[in-house]
Amino acid sequence: MSAIHLQNLVKKFGDFTALKTMDLAIADGEFMALLGPSGCGKSTTMNMIAGMEEPTSGKILFGERDMTGVPMGRRGVGFVFQNYAIFTHMSVRQNLAYGPKMRGAPKAEIDRRVGAIAEMLQLTPLLDRKADRLSVNILQRVAIGRSAIMEPAIFLLDEPLSNVDAAFRAVMRTELKQLQRQFRQTMVYVTHDQLEAMTMADRITVMDHGVLQQVGTPLEVYNDPANVFVARFIGAPGMNLLRGRPAESDRGLVVDLGPLGVTPPLPVEITAAVRGVRGEVLYGFRPEQVTLAESGRGLSMPVNFVERIGARTIIHLGDGEAAVKAVLDNDVALSVGQTAVIAPAAQSVRVFDAATGLAMKAG
Ligand code: ATP
Repeated sequence: MSAIHLQNLVKKFGDFTALKTMDLAIADGEFMALLGPSGCGKSTTMNMIAGMEEPTSGKILFGERDMTGVPMGRRGVGFVFQNYAIFTHMSVRQNLAYGPKMRGAPKAEIDRRVGAIAEMLQLTPLLDRKADRLSVNILQRVAIGRSAIMEPAIFLLDEPLSNVDAAFRAVMRTELKQLQRQFRQTMVYVTHDQLEAMTMADRITVMDHGVLQQVGTPLEVYNDPANVFVARFIGAPGMNLLRGRPAESDRGLVVDLGPLGVTPPLPVEITAAVRGVRGEVLYGFRPEQVTLAESGRGLSMPVNFVERIGARTIIHLGDGEAAVKAVLDNDVALSVGQTAVIAPAAQSVRVFDAATGLAMKAG
């Protein structure tokens, strides 16, 4: 019943198309993240699921039921926004109890549910505090509790953690995931933060400029980006992409990167898709999947910046279109001005069509 199906969903604001023909099936009990940069249409999509915006065309189904024209209050969805919406003159207990009370639940039942949700969200010691004396972090926890206590079959969260501090965000990522596991609701979570999407979601819908780019598990979108946008957007730093042309060599098919030389032979699955291509391609590899190599055994590039981030060191190599990053051990002995030879791990190499931006692979 609480599966969500978006069918050919389009949203226009005047001449501006905020969402272009979105087709998406979210399974019952699934945690789906809508991920993309600011303005890509995430909130617009969410607002249509909630019933706050009507689609320009297309349909939204909950299970088999068409939601067209069904008002927000009758959709059975819980909603948590970036800005916590709670009653500041009430206590935490009163805020949590508000929804069940409005529905006419018996007092004993309300007390039991408030107790359980407060325990889960670590609000028990704060139950009798007035909300206007609580920090932003705790207020957002209360807002989540206030929606969760209604046990909605569909739970929609729009950037719920963007106003809370970094340490609290890390705690809440774990708690929200546990909350969803416990209630098994269908959860749709809007974020521009890939870490939130990667750590919590069963699947991620990556969007850009109102267009769905890829739907997949966190590892699928990281390992096998469908296109250049996803390759760059997922990962911190994003995938390295170097422009070149496929070329035959006596070792197999390689990519000729011009002044940077030629790459090692391409993995077999990619060779089949790239062989015979005459146009330019983008040779992609993850910064984390790079090792330092001997001269002649990798790409030789000048070190332009050394960024030490504690556990790892990010080496910035080359510049302009031929700039790449390598994430190496924290004690790597490289400094600005030196030349490094880097070898991408063969299994991490991906090739994209430079004209269309699409990943090239067999089958
Ligand atoms: P953000 O995280 O910044 O909210 P988003 O991905 O959620 O980004 P949306 O809020 O869905 O993006 O907005 C998508 C586009 O639609 C934006 O360009 C926005 O300016 C535009 N837009 C949204 N609501 C309206 C509206 N009511 N009228 C006109 N344009 C709108």
